[in-house]
Parts: sequence; structure tokens; C-alpha cells
Amino acid sequence: LERLFSFMIRLRIPGGLISSSQWKAIHDISEEHGTGVLKITTRQTIQLHGLIKNELRTTIQEFLISKLDSIAACGDVNRNVICSAHPQVSPLFKEIHAYADKISTLLLPKTQAYYEIWIDGDKVYERSAEEDPLYKKTYLPRKFKVAIAIPPTNDIDVFANDLGLIAIVKDGVLKGFNLSIGGGMGATHGNADTYPRLGTIIGFLDSEEKIMKAAYEIVTIQRDFGNRSDRKLSRLKYTLDRMGVDNFIKELEKRTGFPLLPAEEFKFTERTDRFGWLENDKNEWFYTLFVEHGVIKPYQKSFLHEVALLNICDYRFTCNQNLILGSISKENKTRIEQLIQKYKVEEQDSNLRKNSMACVALPTCSLALAESQRYLPHLVTKIESILKKHNIENDAISIRMTGCPNGCARPYLAEIGLVGTALGQYNLRLGGDSLGERLNLPYKEHLNESEILLELDILLEQYVEENKEGDTFGDYIYKKFYTS
Ligand code: SF4
Repeated sequence: LERLFSFMIRLRIPGGLISSSQWKAIHDISEEHGTGVLKITTRQTIQLHGLIKNELRTTIQEFLISKLDSIAACGDVNRNVICSAHPQVSPLFKEIHAYADKISTLLLPKTQAYYEIWIDGDKVYERSAEEDPLYKKTYLPRKFKVAIAIPPTNDIDVFANDLGLIAIVKDGVLKGFNLSIGGGMGATHGNADTYPRLGTIIGFLDSEEKIMKAAYEIVTIQRDFGNRSDRKLSRLKYTLDRMGVDNFIKELEKRTGFPLLPAEEFKFTERTDRFGWLENDKNEWFYTLFVEHGVIKPYQKSFLHEVALLNICDYRFTCNQNLILGSISKENKTRIEQLIQKYKVEEQDSNLRKNSMACVALPTCSLALAESQRYLPHLVTKIESILKKHNIENDAISIRMTGCPNGCARPYLAEIGLVGTALGQYNLRLGGDSLGERLNLPYKEHLNESEILLELDILLEQYVEENKEGDTFGDYIYKKFYTS
């Protein structure tokens, strides 16, 4: 008798957009072939947990029938391409959002092995014919991440990505994109050679053709120059720091055959999701549902399933791990409102909780040193009490936790960052801004829960007493401790 092995599958969903029927397929597959656990990830896709091993082929075939796949959702290739999720941010949302799909397709490995393994088991190509035109035989030294931001929102944390595109819109026309390269969150405890890094803006490009060419060649530079002797130093950020930004730009311009233009002005003013009902410029309605740390609770799952059966909206994942029901007509809005009431999905969560993010960590992630998504909700409850004590319970302070320094929930870009070092212990990092434009910095190491709460209690009290300039908590801490 075979042991009951189970797996997690993460889907590739460029820009986080799927249809009602695809949501229904995800729902049904999770119930039929797994434990039913669904988690929205910080890269705008969804993971299904507890999928039974001996049903994997059927599971993947059912995904493919619904035009869903998990190709390159993991591995040393370009990962799920993310894009700002809220259509109200720009009348050009659809045009810009379409780049997520185009770039995902451009950078997809061309091997047919996925279909060989999961559809019929027969080789469709000889191995020798399979060398990938982009990834060649070696693929990349590490994963590669692409993000597309639509100012004024930075809901995707564009500077945390190997390649970030920032849409530049003028007079209602998409002029092109600024390019940011070399962002990345991962680090290793005790290894000073590793570090989180914000992306560096290297210029602007003014046509789709140039953007696609540049994205492709940035990946080839990483393929050819990335560190292949030490995986811990192999992300693009280290390649960039080793080569130097100027040399990297020279190499890029040589490969593309055109120069980068000077970067254009842009401004981010928000990063948090816009919860509840909002209308876009085309009179379509969007409802953003708060999903704590992306873990869809059973009553939320029932609600989302019943909505999917109506087939009157699409489903959009956000990089803050929430879910948007979108493209809803005014007439159909009432039908969804009735279901919102029926399932009581509208919760009155604090701004702190809505600004919290956690990676999966224990028991699912084998790299986890400490709890994260199972623990952060409890810690947030305790911090809420502290905020209340200091009369700042409505403050939208961002707090993020991960179970190890790999940084999957981007803890280095939070105002309060907690990075697990051992069971029940975290490094506390403070001073990040609220827009994802400044990394936080180490404050104290290896703190247990009571030490974390004590530190925050003291600092929040000082914040309330001393903050005369109306700074956010992150800005206040940064000025107080990290600038001279
Ligand atoms: Fe990522 Fe580390 Fe969290 Fe695992 S424990 S999900 S590797 S941050």
C-alpha cells in the first residue's frame, strides 16, 4: 500500500486574472483531489495544498481543460508575472495589464515535457531538439521575477522584483515604461554577502517592441552572467552589483541594439488594496475581499463558489493576498451584494490586519525556521490592543512576517518586518516606508513574542508623543533611529 503523499500546486496566472469558470474548476479540483485548502500567494496566484499524489495526472489534466497550468510557477525560470490589480487606478488598466500575459508567454520555457509527463506520457520531441531558445541547456541560475506597476499604486512592490516595469501615462496615453532591475528580497541568516535589495531604475522605453526585447535580453544577461557556483548569490541583484549598473546597461544596449531613454517622472501614493466596492471608468464594479494572509476560509470559499456559479464576474488576485470580484455590471452587483450578506463576508478588520502579510512557513514550507501565517493573526490581535491603548487603532501600519529570511511575503518592505530565526523567535526590522520605496533595517534580533510586544509598545508610545510632523510609523522610526 502506497503512503498517502500529497503535493502543493501553484498555478501560473499572469496578472492574477481568471474567469468564473476557472475559479469553479480550482474549487472543484481542490475538493476532489486535495484537502480543499486554497492560498492566494504574494505573487498574485493561487496554491492548492494537499493534492493527492496518485491523482496528480488527473488533477493537472483537469487544470489544462480549464486553460490553467503550473508551468514555470516554480524553478529557475521567469515566475508568475504580476501586475497592479485594481482597474480603477487607470483608464488604461486593461492595456497595461495585458503586458503581464505577453511577458509571461515571451519568457515561458518552450519545453513540451510538462505535456509529455502529465497528458499522455509519450515523448513529443527528442531531447536534442528541446534546447530552449531563451534558457538554453542551463536555464537560469535562480528564479526570475517580473512585475508591472501602474502608478499611483505600488500594490505589487515593484522594487522587490528582478525586473520592474512602471507604466508612464501622459494625457491619457501609455507612453511606455520605466525599467527597474535588480530588486530581490531573499537573504541568508549569518551570511553578510546576502541582502535584500531595491530595484534600480535604469531608464525608460517607449514602445512595446522595445519593452519586450529589453525584458528578453535582461533575462539572457542573467542567464549568461549570473553566479552559478553559489546559489545564494545567484539572483540578478548580485549579478547587477557585481557588474555595476553602467556595465549592465552597456551590455543590455549591446544586446537590444537600442539605447535606454532617461527615466520618466512618476509617483506612488498608495500600496494597500482598495477594499469593498469600487467602480471603474467604464461603469464596471469591483469588490475587493480581505483574505487574511491569502488563506481562503471555508465560508469565504462557499461564497466564492456560489458567486462563480452565477458566472457574472471575473476573479483577480492581488499581491497583498486578497481577491477582487471584477467586471460586474450594475444589475449584477445586487446579486453579489445579496451573497455578501448571506455569507457575512464583509468583516470589520483593523487597518493593521488588512496591512499584514505572511508567507506559508510551517508546516508546509520545508525552509521555514518559524511560524508565519498560522501565527501572525494572533500576534496582530495583541498589537491591535497596543494600538488601541495608544489611541491609534485606525493606523494603517504595514506588518509582514516570514518563517525564514527568503522573504516570500516581502518583510523587508514593511514598516514592521518580522523574519523568523527559530521556533518562536524573530528578527525585528523597522523603518520601512508605507509605499514600498525604502527597505526597513535591523532593529533587534531573536525576539520572542513578549519581547516583540514590549518593543512595539514602547516605540508606539513614543511615536504618539513625539510625532509632530504627521509621519507614518515607518517614517518616524526611520528618522529617529536611522538618520543622523
Ligand atoms: Fe518563503 Fe521562507 Fe516563508 Fe518558506 S519560510 S515561504 S521560503 S519566506
